[in-house]
Amino acid sequence: MKKMKAERKLVFTCPHCGSRQFFDAVKEVDLHEDPEFRDRIMSGMVFMRRCASCGRDARLLHELRVTDSAKHYLVQLAPKEHFDQLTAEFRQLAVSEAGHEVFRMTDFLNSFKEKINIFEAGRDDRLIEIAKQLLTAYAAKNYPQLEIDYIHYLNDPVHGGEVWILLTKQGIMKAGFDMKMYHDARHILEHAGADEPYIIDSSWASEVCAKYRLKQYA
Ligand SMILES: [Zn+2]
Repeated sequence: MKKMKAERKLVFTCPHCGSRQFFDAVKEVDLHEDPEFRDRIMSGMVFMRRCASCGRDARLLHELRVTDSAKHYLVQLAPKEHFDQLTAEFRQLAVSEAGHEVFRMTDFLNSFKEKINIFEAGRDDRLIEIAKQLLTAYAAKNYPQLEIDYIHYLNDPVHGGEVWILLTKQGIMKAGFDMKMYHDARHILEHAGADEPYIIDSSWASEVCAKYRLKQYA
């Protein structure tokens, strides 16, 4: 039997009126079985609650596991204090017949959404994170006045496909997704000899790039 959506009961305290109520929060969803659910995640609707007492909306983040039984990935949104437990669980799942090949965890909603976007586009999030490092270095060299706070990958097939969204001190900017940078990232990853942890973020990517540079001089 295929698993559609697993739910769990959570308590919600309305931030507007203080009323406490139970609701069923989705715990796990397979986007291959339920592709519409992706839109609920991307729009943030999955974390919106309408209070039964006062009728107002509030956001409530909760743990959520997204899998895709066709694309074989698993991404978990969870607080940091659950990471050890998840690491143990992922190790078990990796050797069982669950069929997932990629396991990721994050406590950051933007990163959670971005990872789903990356895997749905058939990209490798490790290469995306390394490409962000390359893009940052490229911008520092060619646009030194630009102060980049954060780079986000976005695939929007309806509006032109893959782009980089740059959050900078000067405002939000878009940059074209550069396939050459993505291929360069693959070269760096292959030559750095990096491992594949369950948390793939900018600090992981910056370590891989540092390892790669060291090998260039060895
Ligand atoms: Zn309320």
